[in-house]
Amino acid sequence: MNVVAIANQKGGVGKTTTAISLSAALAELGQRVLLLDLDPQANATSGLGVEPDSEGSMYYPLIGEAKIQEKVIPTRIENLSLVPSGMDLAGVEIELARSDDHLTRLRKLLTNLKRGKKYDYCILDTPPSLGVLMTTSLAAADEVIIPLQCEWFGLEGLAKIVHVIEQIRESGAAPKLKLEGILMTMFDGRTNLSRQVVEEVSNYFPDQLYQSVIPRTIRIGEAPSHGKTIFEHDSSGIGAQAYRSAAQEFLIRHSNVGGPIA
Ligand code: ADP
Ligand code: MG
Repeated sequence: MNVVAIANQKGGVGKTTTAISLSAALAELGQRVLLLDLDPQANATSGLGVEPDSEGSMYYPLIGEAKIQEKVIPTRIENLSLVPSGMDLAGVEIELARSDDHLTRLRKLLTNLKRGKKYDYCILDTPPSLGVLMTTSLAAADEVIIPLQCEWFGLEGLAKIVHVIEQIRESGAAPKLKLEGILMTMFDGRTNLSRQVVEEVSNYFPDQLYQSVIPRTIRIGEAPSHGKTIFEHDSSGIGAQAYRSAAQEFLIRHSNVGGPIA
């Protein structure tokens, strides 16, 4: 099981949309996927049409009073399971900050889960801040995908998150944490700006940049309000195609390194 954090400390860049869409597309391609919603705002949870659930969230596992396994629920989508989020999860920041091992809490929980070999990928949707939930998520991950908006101010944030990934690596909590990819989101083909931003990222991160680029579409934007994935809401549209293509690219990149680590 590979643990993949979808992270960027900026809000509104497409983290949750990417976490849901990548998870659903991988599941559609036959991978067994567990999506952990680690954002107290619970957008990944409601985006999948599931009621946010404080009792059922990562709160109790993170404070050491439950196993993740107890919180996993199935979704409508075959091969895709979810640990929902709820408002309580906000309180975990304070509780964890008090403990010495907050950085490695989630990593330890996931090590147990890896032993069960029930999932090929565990995708983490993270909150938009550099708080404890974000850092414990990064420290729990094998790899990070950064969704990046095709806007100039998106680039400002990129240096910052790359630096945080280095810090987590150096802390010793996750020495092998890898920046797996940068996925450009909300691409607007009508503007030169979008193209320039993609160009700029490819200069600095040629190996990390995904060839698949996610367009800004009305359909992607409206899917969560129906509690549906883009594949359920507009299966043949360009947004769904782009996320399918990103998932295929993800799998090709992983088969090059020997497939998912069991
Ligand atoms: P984050 O998790 O980084 O805060 P979201 O995935 O929630 O970002 O996206 C922010 C908002 O933009 C949401 O309302 C979402 O539906 C919308 N959105 C995300 N990606 C796209 C896209 N490619 N096209 C149109 N709207 C999008
Ligand atoms: Mg989000």
